[in-house]
Amino acid sequence: MMMISRLKPLEEMFGRLKSSESLLLLACNGCAESFGSAEPGQLNLLKSEAEQRGHHVADVVTIEFLCEEVLVRHWLRKARSKESFDAVLAVCCGVGAQVVAKVSQGAVYPACDTVSMGGRFGQPWGAELCKECGECLLPYTGGICPLTACSKGLLNGPCGGSQDGRCEFRPESRECGWQKIYRRLEERGGKELLVGPPLIKDHSRNEPPEELVVFKTQLLEGQVETL
Ligand code: SF4
Ligand code: SF4
Repeated sequence: MMMISRLKPLEEMFGRLKSSESLLLLACNGCAESFGSAEPGQLNLLKSEAEQRGHHVADVVTIEFLCEEVLVRHWLRKARSKESFDAVLAVCCGVGAQVVAKVSQGAVYPACDTVSMGGRFGQPWGAELCKECGECLLPYTGGICPLTACSKGLLNGPCGGSQDGRCEFRPESRECGWQKIYRRLEERGGKELLVGPPLIKDHSRNEPPEELVVFKTQLLEGQVETL
């Protein structure tokens, strides 16, 4: 079995959530069969961890494909009609967490670090949205991935080259990712993060899972049958 993401260390995951927040646990079932991201045991663990840390869990919802905007919109509306919540804990890959952040209009925290897509994910996207970096930083950037939204993949931006909201690299086709991040944090709160210490990555965390490395090696050496 290949893995797409692994749970963040719990201290890191819950460290940014205030104790007064009520949470919706929103998990992706789309790739779960292959990657186990929404297994009941994992969701039960997260729910009880959240409750032990003083959060109210409004609901635990598992849907197919958190990378599918229409589905996410539908299920968020449905969950809100039952009970309100302050934040969403998204149990999925970095692509799903970004879609939830785009649609939810509120705080979204990734529960997972995406290490590898294993060569696939649910929906056919036209753009790269997650670089599988192994340490998801979306809580600091308003749910927009700095590595893919910024042409230079800057962890701390902007670079100073943007003009009228366009990236200095291919301004005709690219918005400045860091201006998007600023706008999102301005709209939803969190601007104080921009004057905090710079983001630094622990690159050791993007090491793919052992089984995927083995699989790739076997594939290259012709030990695995392909279609
Ligand atoms: S920070 Fe970006 S590249 Fe890293 S896991 Fe999150 S979405 Fe993916
Ligand atoms: S202009 Fe914006 S998107 Fe382009 S490289 Fe600079 S910070 Fe990144």
